[in-house]
Amino acid sequence: MWIFDKTARRRHHDGHKGDGLPSRHDTAVESQRSGSREIKVVRRVLDANDMLAARNRELFAAKGIFTLNLMSSPGSGKTTLLEKSLARLMPDLRCAVIVGDICTTQDADRLAASGAPVVQINTDAFGGECHLAAHVIEKALTGINLDAVDLLIVENIGNLVCPAEFDIGEDRRVVVLSVTEGEDKPAKYPLMFRECDALLLNKIDLLPYLDYDTAKTLISIEQIHPGMPVFQLSAKSGEGLEDWLAWIRAQINAKKKAPSS
Ligand code: MG
Ligand code: ZN
Repeated sequence: MWIFDKTARRRHHDGHKGDGLPSRHDTAVESQRSGSREIKVVRRVLDANDMLAARNRELFAAKGIFTLNLMSSPGSGKTTLLEKSLARLMPDLRCAVIVGDICTTQDADRLAASGAPVVQINTDAFGGECHLAAHVIEKALTGINLDAVDLLIVENIGNLVCPAEFDIGEDRRVVVLSVTEGEDKPAKYPLMFRECDALLLNKIDLLPYLDYDTAKTLISIEQIHPGMPVFQLSAKSGEGLEDWLAWIRAQINAKKKAPSS
């Protein structure tokens, strides 16, 4: 297990863009000539994070690695879900995990029991960032033998806001929402649910004890991200896990068949 903490270079904490890199929202205003008139064109600059994410993506492609970026609020059950998923995937797929937390190695300790190589990133050394950026992933990759990995899963920092803004070079983004969080979260954090490729609705074993309205969530998701696959499951009981794991395998196979660019 690798831990990025005190030995890493401490960065200036500048809000949640503590990596010192430009934000995805930075724009540039350019002047262009159109005939005799000069017009202002505002375009989004391909920022530093996107360039580093593209570099990660090229590395993953070269090594034949499929990468999942798993995001959610704190306490949605990402780590338990990963423990259960790794146990079922590991026999046929060589998995590795990068897990991000502001502090502690508790999640890495739990995930390392699966036998998969695990790298823990503690962002308190990077200014306490509440998301994983591409350059942090790039550093974490140096702790993994990439030639022995088919599937890399990144457990992002528990946060429904800015992780959605940072491309890390992943193939697919997955958001975990637990039924204890309420039906309103997709509507309150639409960017996350728009940016992801699949939703895992976790802790359905608790539904008998809650007033949670699953249909309301599904309607809300359909408005925000029409057609996004939703897997209703319980990491604890194992119910619904197989459909989600079948989805991962299908995504990996689709990438293998896709012509490399
Ligand atoms: Mg966790
Ligand atoms: Zn952040």
